[in-house]
Amino acid sequence: MAAADNCGAGGVKNPVMVRYGELFLKSEPVKYHFIGMLLRNIRRALSAHGLSAHYETPRGRILIFGDQPEKIAWIVARVFGVVDVSICTRTGSSPEDLTAAAVTLASKQLTAGMSFAVRAKRQLKTGLTSQELGTLIGSAIYDRVPGLRVDLNCPEYEIFVEVRDVGGLVYDSRIKAPGGLPLGTQGRVLVLLSAGIDSPVASWLAMKRGCETSHLYLDAGRWAGCDVTPAATENHRRLSLWCPGYELSMIIADSEPLFDEMHRLRTPARYRCVICKRFMHRVAARMMQKEGARAIVTGENLGQVASQTLANLSVISQAVAVPVLRPLITYDKEETIWLARRIGTFDPHPGDLVCRAAPRMPATAAILEEILKCEQAMEVDRITEQTCESVRFVKAQNGVITPTGYHTAL
Ligand code: ATP
Ligand code: MG
Repeated sequence: MAAADNCGAGGVKNPVMVRYGELFLKSEPVKYHFIGMLLRNIRRALSAHGLSAHYETPRGRILIFGDQPEKIAWIVARVFGVVDVSICTRTGSSPEDLTAAAVTLASKQLTAGMSFAVRAKRQLKTGLTSQELGTLIGSAIYDRVPGLRVDLNCPEYEIFVEVRDVGGLVYDSRIKAPGGLPLGTQGRVLVLLSAGIDSPVASWLAMKRGCETSHLYLDAGRWAGCDVTPAATENHRRLSLWCPGYELSMIIADSEPLFDEMHRLRTPARYRCVICKRFMHRVAARMMQKEGARAIVTGENLGQVASQTLANLSVISQAVAVPVLRPLITYDKEETIWLARRIGTFDPHPGDLVCRAAPRMPATAAILEEILKCEQAMEVDRITEQTCESVRFVKAQNGVITPTGYHTAL
């Protein structure tokens, strides 16, 4: 086959190849639907960065043909549902074509003394076996760069050759992507997003498992440090970089009246954290319907702080009758911080994030009946109602914040 015939749409010869993982487990119609969603998200991500491309969907892969393969690969490596991406050389499927492309690519990276391996794979089971093809290409590379060593277990350099129905694909790098499921395949969740480290990671994990997200932030006003609202908004902005082309909503609700009331009524200090979290869940359960969400997501974690003992989490959950998902429930803090750094939400200098209502000795096993008495005394339903009636929306898209003002009587 002539080289020119092997080009994809628009004559591009270096497609970006996308590998997706778990979608393989689905039935054919579900797989078809999920791949459609994945393609839609990839298109949105590229167009959010001002790029256009053409696509082919050979079995088990997506090939993207565009003018800037490096930039395309970098963007697509942040799309949920994608396992990894490679910038390929597309060739004919004959051993000669594959060998020529592999030798050209490998000889740019290899020098005498290095170890290498050829990984060959054939979708079409005709002609040479994968092993024969690998040996043939390996010998040609070996002849071109003298002094190499073949090491199939732990090589310094790997080159991959695939023979597929669309022709040959040759590449030598695999850029890791987040995996998971395509955004939008699992419905919407409402994430309780704070200024902290955990909840942005929880939000990211929910997106990774295919959920569209809306954020809800409770602004404690004078009870919170001066950097809390800017830090929560920044978390929201940074998370919007993970769903390019989607408009991400953050609802800001006012929780200052709750703290004022606890202060006025001298609610036992040790119960404040649990009452505060139950209040957040109540507001979230109300807002869920408006956002079309099916569950609340929080960054809570077993035993991380006093309000997150198993006993307290149980009392918190009983504030609402909707599903509450806690993706970080079993994570160690170190694991969460590692992930926060990786996804770009970790801020080493977050500023003044103090909670002025936090007691010195919070209850670690709150008694539901006592909490209910405190909540009745402060008419928590009325405060919840008021809070939900006057909320503010902040939208973020592609890392840019767009305030949209106050919305009352939702
Ligand atoms: P994070 O847990 O996100 O690091 P944090 O440590 O300030 O924040 P915690 O006391 O651990 O907060 O709260 C547990 C969870 O409650 C958070 O992960 C988040 O889901 C939710 N939450 C806490 N504060 C707020 C807030 N001001 N607005 C919305 N949700 C909040
Ligand atoms: Mg926390």
